Amino acid sequence: MSPEPTEDHSASRAKFRVAVVGGGPGGMALAMAISKFNDPEAPVIVDVYESQPAIGTVGAGISVWPRTRALLNHLGLMKHFQGELNAQNAQNVGENVGRGFLYRKSDQAQGYPIYHMPMASNPMLLHRSDFLRALHDEVAPPPLCNIHTSKRLVSLTQDAVKRTVMLHFADGSTARADAVVGADGVRSVVRVNMLSDKERVEPEWPGVIAYRTLVHRDALEARGIPADHDLRTLALAYCGKGRHLVTYPISRGEYVNMVAFVSHGNHPQHFEGKWVRDVSVEEVREAYKGWEPDVEKFLQCIETASAWAIHIVRDIPRASSGRVAVLGDAMHAFEPHFGAGAGQAMEDAYVLARLLTHPSTIRAALPQALQAYNQARLTFSTDIVHKTRRCDRLYEFTEGPMPSGPDDEDGIQNWSREAHKLWGFQMDEHGADDFWRDAEKYLQDRLSDSRVKASL
Ligand SMILES: Cc1cc2nc3c(=O)[nH]c(=O)nc-3n(C[C@H](O)[C@H](O)[C@H](O)COP(=O)(O)OP(=O)(O)OC[C@H]3O[C@@H](n4cnc5c(N)ncnc54)[C@H](O)[C@@H]3O)c2cc1C
Repeated sequence: MSPEPTEDHSASRAKFRVAVVGGGPGGMALAMAISKFNDPEAPVIVDVYESQPAIGTVGAGISVWPRTRALLNHLGLMKHFQGELNAQNAQNVGENVGRGFLYRKSDQAQGYPIYHMPMASNPMLLHRSDFLRALHDEVAPPPLCNIHTSKRLVSLTQDAVKRTVMLHFADGSTARADAVVGADGVRSVVRVNMLSDKERVEPEWPGVIAYRTLVHRDALEARGIPADHDLRTLALAYCGKGRHLVTYPISRGEYVNMVAFVSHGNHPQHFEGKWVRDVSVEEVREAYKGWEPDVEKFLQCIETASAWAIHIVRDIPRASSGRVAVLGDAMHAFEPHFGAGAGQAMEDAYVLARLLTHPSTIRAALPQALQAYNQARLTFSTDIVHKTRRCDRLYEFTEGPMPSGPDDEDGIQNWSREAHKLWGFQMDEHGADDFWRDAEKYLQDRLSDSRVKASL
C-alpha cells in the first residue's frame, strides 16, 4: 500500500511499508538495522506490532559470544555496553582473558575442571533489558519506524492482486503492509499463517526443563561466596549426568544469572501443562543434591525460581512465502546451550534489513528479496537446532566422550575437542556478512532472470 501521507517528507518518499510482528530481540534488531541501512531518498517504513503493553523482556541474563559481538560492533551497538565491558575486563585478567565457559564435572562430592574454552574475546554477559534497550535506542523515530504496543496478531492474509498483506489483531483492528516479518517467537502466529497445513511445524519439547533465577550479590556474600570467586567472575557450566547448571555474572556484578537444566528423556515430545511456572527453591536444590560443594552452596543463595519447558522449532520447510517471512525463534527456536538464540535472531534481522533496504528491492520485488533471505539463512539456522541437541548430550554425558576422572587426560581432551567443535560457529566473526553476501548474490541472480523481470 502507499504509505500514509505525513508532514515528514522521508515518509512520503517511502519505497514500501514492512510490518514486523513482535518486539523481542529479533523484531527490534530488524527495526534498528533497517533504520541504520535505510536510504533517506527512498526509505522503508517499519511498523512493529508487539502484543505486550510495552517493549520489554524477562528479568534474566543473556550471553553474547564472538560471532554476535562482531555483529553488534558492525551495527554500532557496542557503545551501549561499554560500562558493562569495562567492569568485565577489570575482572577477567590473566589466564581468564579470551575464555568462554569454564566447564566442570560436578555431579559428585569432588568436582574437577574439564575445559576452559579459548575464544578470540570474552563473552559479553548482559542483562536482557540492557540488550533490548540498546536495540530500541537505535530505532529511527516515527514516521520511519512506528512501534505499536498491545497489538496481538491473530491472523494475516496475503492479497496477490494488490500485492499487500492484511494483518488482523486481537482487538479487532487491522493494518495493511507491503510485507510482513514474523518475529513473534516460538509460538509464532505468522509462521502458522505462512505455512500450508501440510507444511505446518509445531514447537516440540526436547525433554528439557530450565530453572531460571537471578541471585543478588548480597545473597552470595551472606553465604560466603566472595567477589573474586569464579561464580562471580566467570561463565561457568557445571556438568553432570542428565543435568547441567550454567551461571554467569551480569549488571556489573550485581547479579549472578542462573539457568539449571534437567533432562527428562532424550527425544522431542509433547509437553503437558504450562510452559513457564514458578517453582519452590527446594525443587531446584533437590535436582542438584549431592553435587560438588560450590553448586550446593550457590543453590542455598537462590530465593526464587521459575521452571521453563524449553521448546524448539526445527526443520521448517521455508522461512518465507510470498510477502511474508519469519525470523528468530519463530523460524528456529534452539535449546539455549550455545547462547545463540538472540544472536541468530539478530543475524536473520541483519540479512533481511540489508535485503529490504537494497536499491534493487523495489515493492514488486519483495517476494524475491524474501526468497533470498530464505535461501541464505534457513539451512544454517536449522542445523544449529540439531547441534544444540548434541551439545546437551555432551554436557550431560549421555553421548560422546566422558572423562572418567580428573586424571583421565585423554577423556578430558576428547570431551574438550568435541565441545570446541560444536561451538565453532560461535567463533566465526564474519558469519553475518557471509550470509549477506550470499543473499545479495541470490537476489541479483533472481532479478536478472528475464521471467522475473517481466513480472515486476
Ligand atoms: C533459558 C534460556 C536462556 C537463553 N539464553 C540465551 C543467551 O544467553 N544468548 C542468546 O543469544 N539467546 C539465549 N536464549 C534464546 C533467546 O532468548 C531467544 O532465542 C530470543 O529471545 C529470540 O528472540 P525473538 O525476537 O525471535 O523471539 P522472542 O524473544 O520470543 O520475542 C517475541 C516477541 O513477540 C511478541 N509476540 C508473540 N506473539 C505475538 C503476536 N501474536 N502478536 C504480536 N506480538 C507477539 C512477544 O511478546 C515478544 O516480545 C535463551 C533462551 C532461554 C529459554
